[in-house]
Amino acid sequence: MKNQEHILIIGAGLCGSLLALRMAQRGYKVTLMEKRPDLREEIVDSGRSINLAFSDRGMKGLRLAGLEDKVLPLCIPMNGRMIHSADGQLFMSAYSGRNHEYINSISREDLNIMLLNECDKMPDITMHFNQKCTGVELETAKATFEDYKTQKETHYQADILMGADGVGSALRKSMLDHRKFLFSYGQDFLTHGYKELSFPASADGGFLVEKNALHIWPRGKDMMIALPNLDGSFTVTLFLSWDEGKDSFESLNSDAAILDYFEREFPDALALMPNLIQEFKENPTSPLGTIKCSPWHAYGKVLLLGDAAHGIVPFYGQGMNSAFEDIDVLDKALNKHEGDWKAVFKAYQDERKEDTDAIADLAVDNFHEMKAHTARPIFQEKRKLEIAFENEFPQEYFSKYSLVTFREDLRYSEAMRRGRVQDKAILNLIYDGKFSESMTLQEKLNLVKQETRKMLHDD
Ligand code: FAD
Repeated sequence: MKNQEHILIIGAGLCGSLLALRMAQRGYKVTLMEKRPDLREEIVDSGRSINLAFSDRGMKGLRLAGLEDKVLPLCIPMNGRMIHSADGQLFMSAYSGRNHEYINSISREDLNIMLLNECDKMPDITMHFNQKCTGVELETAKATFEDYKTQKETHYQADILMGADGVGSALRKSMLDHRKFLFSYGQDFLTHGYKELSFPASADGGFLVEKNALHIWPRGKDMMIALPNLDGSFTVTLFLSWDEGKDSFESLNSDAAILDYFEREFPDALALMPNLIQEFKENPTSPLGTIKCSPWHAYGKVLLLGDAAHGIVPFYGQGMNSAFEDIDVLDKALNKHEGDWKAVFKAYQDERKEDTDAIADLAVDNFHEMKAHTARPIFQEKRKLEIAFENEFPQEYFSKYSLVTFREDLRYSEAMRRGRVQDKAILNLIYDGKFSESMTLQEKLNLVKQETRKMLHDD
């Protein structure tokens, strides 16, 4: 029986802990290594976002491990984007015209703790914390770790090694340095970085702005968003240029400059941020980038998953979701090829790479859409029409956002292809004044379908 094999997983973050669980459920012996302390015992500053948008593809991965019921209590549904315009107007743009389709705000820490607790219940999973992987011997699946507290070096070897060690992956670095096979690697940074801030809860523990929405302040060049937390607070993220233009993280270098910027750009939010100056100065400013690499595997011994294989910018809210979907795709490859790891890894990458490249590109597109287009009348008209289509014809129409976020049965690459063309078609029709007042919604939908078909055919 092959499934008595031993799998060493690097990284007990979101992807690594779910992966460990699923591999143990399949009968493997798993060792899970994490560089940080156990976040159930010590406060761990991960340096990453505090809460995340969790949606259907992520749920698919959790469902595979039987965790749907465990994750639901951690979720706050967000039905749409609440757009805060520069003149103080609010505009709620639903994520879908189908009422059962929404995304959720979830705490990274709560989710990770739930996954680690589930791992604890599996006798075949052993976890080690404070163990930083410093290098991997690819041919033998042997890795070196340094104890974070004692600096003591240890080695672990397994039949198979899987790297779920995030954007700075030690396994990926070992593959890059190996130089015995062609390893392609690319990293693209945005000109913008991000900083996390907050709205506290109200005095009675309630929410100071609409709870069931992802709030956005689109300002053309910059953008701020806020996601709700279960305790009534919001995690606020400012996306701002590092050092270009009038306003940048570099230019906001004094209390006066920070206040002036928030008074000009986000006065309604400023009123909810009593700790702004302190948080702005103390919280780190972090970069945003896309990482693409190939191959994700070597020698039938090692495999990259999650951010380690495909780091994406957060503007589609799909990084964690795609990492969880990876596990579903790997599981299916195992169903077909279990017993032959080379075949499993190849089938997995063949199926998945095109899709993670697609979501990486869609996420960059959405950066521009969210900061600039969401506030434009033509975009709002398009969204209104799309919501009406989805509401009236739920089986017939899916916006690009719905295809990517709610159609977990559809590959990202297909969602991108169809969604992009459909977006172009509908915007062209609005721009050219093709939708007349006298047309029924069905006639408008027919026009969009006809235009989309034509463009897909020409594509
Ligand atoms: P990580 O979560 O980074 O976990 C990697 C783990 O490996 C960590 O525990 C780390 O400590 C450990 N590790 C790293 N190096 C080593 C080493 N050398 N040795 C041992 N252990 C190691 N995604 C969404 O789906 N929705 C969102 O709304 C969303 N918002 C985001 C907002 C921001 C600002 C950012 C930056 C990201 C966001 N993401 C979002 C993306 C999401 O955070 C990642 O895609 C997700 O965390 C990937 O999970 P992972 O387990 O692959 O990597």
